[in-house]
Amino acid sequence: MASNSILLQGGTLLVHGNNDHIQSVKTDLLIEGSIIAKIEAGIKASSETQVIDCTDKIVSPGFIDTHHHVWQTLQKGRHANELLLSYMASGNLTNSLHTPSDIFWGELGGVLECLDVGTTTVVDHAHLNYSPEHSKAAIAATLSSGIRSVFCYCPTPRLDSWDPFTINMDLLPPWVMSTLEELVAHKSLLQSRVQLGFAFDGSFLPKEVLVNLFDKVKSLGIKVITTHYVHTASFSPISIVELYHNYGILDHHILFSHCSGATETDAKLIHKSNSHLSSTPSTELQMALGIPVAFSDLGLESQSSVGVDCHSNQSASIPSELRLLLQSSRALYNEKFISQDKIPKKVNKTVEEAFNLGTIQGARAIGRESELGSLSVGKKADILIWDATTPGMVCAAEEDPVAAIVLHSSPGDLETTIVDGVVRKEGGKLKSVDFEVGKELWDSEKGVWGWKDVSKELVRRRVDMAKKFEAIDIEKARKGVIQGFYIDESKIVDSV
Ligand SMILES: [Zn+2]
Repeated sequence: MASNSILLQGGTLLVHGNNDHIQSVKTDLLIEGSIIAKIEAGIKASSETQVIDCTDKIVSPGFIDTHHHVWQTLQKGRHANELLLSYMASGNLTNSLHTPSDIFWGELGGVLECLDVGTTTVVDHAHLNYSPEHSKAAIAATLSSGIRSVFCYCPTPRLDSWDPFTINMDLLPPWVMSTLEELVAHKSLLQSRVQLGFAFDGSFLPKEVLVNLFDKVKSLGIKVITTHYVHTASFSPISIVELYHNYGILDHHILFSHCSGATETDAKLIHKSNSHLSSTPSTELQMALGIPVAFSDLGLESQSSVGVDCHSNQSASIPSELRLLLQSSRALYNEKFISQDKIPKKVNKTVEEAFNLGTIQGARAIGRESELGSLSVGKKADILIWDATTPGMVCAAEEDPVAAIVLHSSPGDLETTIVDGVVRKEGGKLKSVDFEVGKELWDSEKGVWGWKDVSKELVRRRVDMAKKFEAIDIEKARKGVIQGFYIDESKIVDSV
């Protein structure tokens, strides 16, 4: 239920100052409508104001996850021991097994996990677009959840048949762009809590097609265009950054996911164009996508942010990803010294730099620094309240609240998630979701659902999905992926 006014009283607030330096300040914060109206000590509550006692709590900005395939809930746990090419077959392409209704539920499970772990804004690379209904179902679930989203509508390759493995690489049949125009016509989808972005992985198409497509998308008012870029043999032997530059389409609208394997030329072009990137440490480290670039020697930290990529593969927690990024980058840095029998004088990177990648840097990556990413008067009220007295957080929260969140927290320590001034998690539990909110776009699911009932429906659908999945010859599909995406098979080897 929307609250007009909420007072967070007496918490330890994490407030960004000059050069993104974070100060912890014991004070009050007043939310009016969807906005942070005041941050100061001794704010008086009016009789209509909901007061949340934040004694012994840390109050932080919500996390911004800049790369996530949110629909993939029904395949969670399937990819634990997979590399990219296997995941492409058992993950991405199982979008073909999903009805629009499955997509609704998968998407709902994904956005609710985000809210549970403290993500208040997600950039959703929605490669699920088998029909207009699939995308509409996903947007309806996103709207119902209460999360803030840049829903990046995605023309995607569509599987015609698993056996023989036949993939339709015609990314742009007429219905794909007419559906986008239809969605844009819902004016609120360009201005409100859920906004349309665009996701595209068709860099193999002719220059003219890409240039016209990106012009068209920008002319529709879309501000974020996101593209996967991994400069490895298993993904792209060419630089997509250079390609976009050469085509004249590399600009501040572009948000690359990964960028692992990026060259120094790529780094220069990313800076020059003020485009951005999302490092996704878990999937990059597991699936041989390369070293996360956010903290690498390429000097791309100012253009970087962090994403989860696949909650089908690991937790959707941004603090978990920040921790993995920070400690893996420290390991690589330290190893350079160790391998030469030397001792590093200082530790590489700080918890504050990591925290910023998940908050203010995420806002910059989507061009919304002025409204998101930090606790600041006038910004959107996307706020987390952490219990500083749990076994995990106690003492650490007193010593260094940023370190407490980045290195000590678990999602169970997160008591309250507020998005757009509305409480979505309270007392450590998700609040109910109302499917009425999305019915303008897709009206097939009804009612107000609590998490327990949502989880039962997810389990029921997972069983059905697993049956469909078992009928596939997945090794044949993996071979099909290798051929369909022009992967050089001679490069797949057992050892080097
Ligand atoms: Zn991805």
